[in-house]
Amino acid sequence: MLGLQDRTQAVIPISHVEVDAATEELVLSVLRSGRLAQGPVVEQFEACCREMTGARHAVAVNNGTTALELALEALGVGPGDEVVTTPFTFAATLNAIIHSGATATFADVTDDFTIDPAGVEAALTDRTRALMPVHLYGLPADMDALTPWARRRGLRIVEDAAQAHGAMIGSRPVGTEDVATFSFYATKNISTGEGGVITTDDDEVADQLRILRNQGMRARYEYVVPGRNARMLDVIAALAIGQFARRTVMQTTRCTHAEFLGEALAGIGGLVLPAEPPGRASAWHQYTVRVTSDARVDRDTLAAELMKAGVATGVYYPRAVYDYDCYRSHPRVRISDCPRAERFATEVLSLPVHPALSQSDLERIAAAVRRVLA
Ligand SMILES: *Cc1c(COP(=O)(O)O)cnc(C)c1O
Repeated sequence: MLGLQDRTQAVIPISHVEVDAATEELVLSVLRSGRLAQGPVVEQFEACCREMTGARHAVAVNNGTTALELALEALGVGPGDEVVTTPFTFAATLNAIIHSGATATFADVTDDFTIDPAGVEAALTDRTRALMPVHLYGLPADMDALTPWARRRGLRIVEDAAQAHGAMIGSRPVGTEDVATFSFYATKNISTGEGGVITTDDDEVADQLRILRNQGMRARYEYVVPGRNARMLDVIAALAIGQFARRTVMQTTRCTHAEFLGEALAGIGGLVLPAEPPGRASAWHQYTVRVTSDARVDRDTLAAELMKAGVATGVYYPRAVYDYDCYRSHPRVRISDCPRAERFATEVLSLPVHPALSQSDLERIAAAVRRVLA
């Protein structure tokens, strides 16, 4: 937070990591303990993840992509299987499916940027084993529609909640539909630089995950499957403990910032603001607007003008995830028409919404957008 408010001429960043004094102390104490690898602090981290989600189990791993890969592996998803996912996501979602040996298929998104429950049926074949929705920008996908559908079809669910720490579906936090994964990468709502966790209520899946992350060992040198080394470090887990303690405050601040932007940016022609559908509360990982063809300038011009005004923005993501040669030509990527995702990729722009913004930062962001578009 240091100096963000004072440096009025500095660029307002799109994300900001704050390491407080208590965190420095905790990291130092882990360093001094000489026990750097997975141990008691990772257990503490997992307890925080259980508390955040209400899940029975949380299994910490080295990053969010590994979390997705192990989730699929623990569910037995592999060659010959298909996984339905969204075309509007980070490459990690798709890479995890491909590396499992399964084939990725897609259902388009709705205008809330998450997978369309009305579109998943068309992506289904008799090989479909799992549904992988993404809670993009922190907004939960419509799980009240998707979960009953998946159960009826006998599909497992892997929620990609990398961006959605503490997001809510009705009165329950995301992370317990079936198996869910979170990322603690440097830009996420809670960050350890690199880090991930899988949450689930399923005892067998959790048991499998703990074995898989540790070379397939149930006990020392008792190998039961060919596993991997996907463990988190104690010294890394220590970075998150203080953030979990401040989580509710940080989350409320993100919501307040989103509310401010919603009011300050209302009524600008061609600017579509993000909304939370009834019963779904966003973690506001990003505040993502759409700049449509009705706007005074296009998305990329707005982004360039905002940068000149000292406001950093982000484009997540500039293309549908399958729209790259390496995926278009991949034998295990089955592309279907996703016109909404492809259009949104040309229209989306994320504005800073993180908890380190000051009131004057927020006013500068809103004024700069108005100056260009209104
Ligand atoms: C960040 C992210 C991931 C991957 O997480 P890493 O920790 O960077 O491996 C997966 N899916 C989505 C949607 C993400 O935003």
